[in-house]
Amino acid sequence: MKIGINTKCLHIENEKTSGEHFGAISYPIYQTATYAHPGVGQSTGYDYSRLQNPTRAHLEQVMASLENGIDAFALSSGMAAITLLMELFAPGDHIIADADLYGGSIRLFRNVSEKNGITFSSIDCYRENVEGYIKENTKAIYIETPTNPMMNVTDIDAVAKIAQKHKLLLIVDNTFLSPYYQNPLDLGADIVVHSGTKYLGGHNDTLAGFLVTNREDIREKLRFLIKTTGAGLAPFDCWLILRGIKTLGIRMERAQKNALEIAKWLKQQRAVTRVIYPGLPEHPGHEIMKRQARGFGAMLTFQLQSKEFALAILEKVRLIKFAESLGGVETLITYPTSQTHADVPKEIRENNGITEETLRLSVGIEDVEDLITELETIFREIETAP
Ligand SMILES: *Cc1c(COP(=O)(O)O)cnc(C)c1O
Repeated sequence: MKIGINTKCLHIENEKTSGEHFGAISYPIYQTATYAHPGVGQSTGYDYSRLQNPTRAHLEQVMASLENGIDAFALSSGMAAITLLMELFAPGDHIIADADLYGGSIRLFRNVSEKNGITFSSIDCYRENVEGYIKENTKAIYIETPTNPMMNVTDIDAVAKIAQKHKLLLIVDNTFLSPYYQNPLDLGADIVVHSGTKYLGGHNDTLAGFLVTNREDIREKLRFLIKTTGAGLAPFDCWLILRGIKTLGIRMERAQKNALEIAKWLKQQRAVTRVIYPGLPEHPGHEIMKRQARGFGAMLTFQLQSKEFALAILEKVRLIKFAESLGGVETLITYPTSQTHADVPKEIRENNGITEETLRLSVGIEDVEDLITELETIFREIETAP
């Protein structure tokens, strides 16, 4: 029986119900480092928790199912996942990477991966001719869509065709939409990256990261790498993410509904010069997203008339929290210039359109009237300040 995405968040397809784990509905936390062998040359299937742990294996199965992959890998953070991913490459390899990526990914590529001999071409994959940047040693294309924080939308299927033609890996960081709204593997990607800290966990309480693939060769390599490097997600954190995933659908729907309301409200404000939300019909990526995703998510970026206005908002928010991160039930506001993208060189940042007037909102699941009332109060206070 084929099951829907909300059911997949709760149940494994063809799950056995033979009374395993005493019929526990919540998957048990196997808080163990090691496993006793039944005899010499025998194994229960689990030997040591760096290699594998039942709670982690269960979470990985859920993630593989949500992204329509053959396997998934649960890591201790999103950055741990991307770091592991980079071990698929060798000195001399070249990667085409989107220019407007999560700041931590840019930091990793520029400071760690480049030191290890990997080179990058940083381009706007949503509008540049990706094929023109392919060299003899190019091995992969790395994108986010929509991007963080400028919400640029790349046509995954179009880039996948280029990757396939040149035998490159297409890697898509799908954190912003979560598997609930977008499945890059179905559109031709080879590897999907997630910061599980965000929508998957959903409660701003746990760090986690994922790699999901539909390729047997990559699965083998990643299984070897996770065993060798050891950043697998701890059993209790696996359980927290499993619990978060159970409500992924209703959280995403609710947060998206709130985000659209707030985007519309922001558009009416004189102090706001630009609202960037792909759910608005005027967003340049709106039509592509309608084709390749099932929703627009709950992340939006907006620009104020002045830096002072942006900073005053950050000073005044109470219900909305001034914090980094995204994808949780609580609404967070971020100042990309000094937070998520502080380590990105100024010229790259500005070239991406991230200015000192730019704010990013991760809309949560509060009553939207309360969020708008708070923004309304703050805007009027700033506008009438002497
Ligand atoms: C947060 C984030 C990451 C990094 O994940 P951590 O869990 O914070 O290590 C990677 N990509 C995107 C798009 C993110 O938002």
